[in-house]
Amino acid sequence: MTQTRTTKTRCPDEAFHQEGPPGYLARKEWARKLSLTHTQQQCPGCGLWVIWERTGGTT
Ligand SMILES: [Zn+2]
Repeated sequence: MTQTRTTKTRCPDEAFHQEGPPGYLARKEWARKLSLTHTQQQCPGCGLWVIWERTGGTT
């Protein structure tokens, strides 16, 4: 249990990350709005939930 897994490794899909604005509340609101039209996905590169895929919503 002493092995620490580095999370700072560069993600190959980092370009697709959408982490939102800085600040907890701003990001929370941003994610809430985004979730109306997008689905949060796990990044295949790093496993973080930072991918937002647009759902087939009506525009
Ligand atoms: Zn990633």
